[in-house]
Amino acid sequence: MISMNEIYNVLLLEFPYFKKINEEKRQLLCKRTQQFIDGTDFIPRKGMMLTNRMQILIAACSQQLTLGFSRHYNYAYFEKIIVYPEKYLSTYTDKYHTGEMNTAGIIVLSWEDFYKGISIDNDTHNVGLHEFAHALEFMDIANKDVDEIFSACLDKFTALADHYLLHQPDKPLFRSYATTNLSEFFAVATEYYFEAPKEFAEREPELFDILRKAYQQNTASGISVAKKINTTGKSYLSDNVSSSKYSAVLFYLIIGAMSLTITYNGSIIGALGLVCFILVMDIFGTPRSIFSLYEDYVHVKLGQIRVKRLIQYFFPAKNRYNPIVPYSEVLYVNARYHQDDEGGGEFYSYVLCYLQQNTLVEVNCVTTDLNYERVLRFLYLEKKVGTRLDGKYKKYK
Ligand SMILES: [Zn+2]
Repeated sequence: MISMNEIYNVLLLEFPYFKKINEEKRQLLCKRTQQFIDGTDFIPRKGMMLTNRMQILIAACSQQLTLGFSRHYNYAYFEKIIVYPEKYLSTYTDKYHTGEMNTAGIIVLSWEDFYKGISIDNDTHNVGLHEFAHALEFMDIANKDVDEIFSACLDKFTALADHYLLHQPDKPLFRSYATTNLSEFFAVATEYYFEAPKEFAEREPELFDILRKAYQQNTASGISVAKKINTTGKSYLSDNVSSSKYSAVLFYLIIGAMSLTITYNGSIIGALGLVCFILVMDIFGTPRSIFSLYEDYVHVKLGQIRVKRLIQYFFPAKNRYNPIVPYSEVLYVNARYHQDDEGGGEFYSYVLCYLQQNTLVEVNCVTTDLNYERVLRFLYLEKKVGTRLDGKYKKYK
C-alpha cells in the first residue's frame, strides 16, 4: 500500500487542486486516494511504466470530483483503469482518443493528456475530470451506487441543460464539443466548473448552482448566485388548503357536541369511548401533503393529522409545516400512478424532492390539478425542474 506521506507529497508538488483546499480536506483527499488505488486495477499499455506517482495523480483526480460526497465517492463499479503513454487509437471509433469511459467498468486515459489536464488548472481542459464525470453519470443512469444528492441534482441538471441546448447563447461559454449530447455537456461543464469557476458562475449561474449542489463543493466561494424570490407572485396551481385548519376545528366541535349529547343521556363512558376512538383513528390516519405551484416557488403544505391542525389553530407555528421552496432548490418531481382497488379510481401522486440546508427532502404530495402531464410539463419547461414519471426520467419539448 502506498503511504499517506508519499501521497501527500506528490499531491502538494504536482496537483494544483490540493493547494486550494484546507488541511482537513487534504487529509480526506489523501485517505480516499489511497483507498481508490487499493480498490483499482491499474493497467499500463504500450510498454509504459506505471509509477506510484502516476497512480496517485489519477486516483486523486477521481477523488477531487467526489470530495464533497459523504458516501459512494469511490466509483465502485469502475474497477480498471487502462493507461496509455499518449493518444491511442480507439477500436470503437477508429480515431485517436485522449480518454474514454467504457460502460463495462473501465476508464481509459492517455497519460500525456491526463497530466496536461491536471497541471494546467485554468484552461478548461481536464480529461481526467471529464472521464470521471462520465463515470459518475453512467453509474447514476445504470442504477449503480451513487451519491443520492448527486443523483437528484442530475435530474435538474438535465432540465437546465436541455433548456440551454435549445436556446444557445450567441457567444457560448462552453467549447463547441459540449453540445454533442447531454452526456458530453455534463462532462465538459464539469471541466469548466473546476477550471473556470468565476466565469462559469457569472455567465451561467443556474448551471453553476446545480453543479455546486451536485458536487457538494463550491469552486467559486465568495460569489453569490442566490436570487431573491417573490413570495407575493400569483399562483399557477392553487388549492384550498388554507381552510384545512378550520375544518379540523369544525370536525372536533362536532365530536365535542356528540360526546356532550351522549353524556347528557347518561353515559360518560360512552362519550369518552367516542372521543378515544376518533383520536386513535386520527392519529393513525395518513394525512396527505399538498403542493401549490407559484411563480417563483413551490408552496408545500405538509400533511398533518386533525389533532395537530387543531392545536395549530390555537398555537400557530411559524411556517414550519408549510415550507416555501424556490424552484432553484427543487431538484425533481416524480409523478406516480396509482390505481385504487376500492373504487377510488386512477390518480397520480407526486414525490417532491428538494434541498433544504444541503439535506435532501422527499415529500409525498398531491395537488389539485389532476392532469399530471400539465403539472410535469410546466415544471420542466417553465421552471427547469427535473421530472420523472413512475421513477423514469421524463423530458418535455
Ligand atoms: Zn466525453
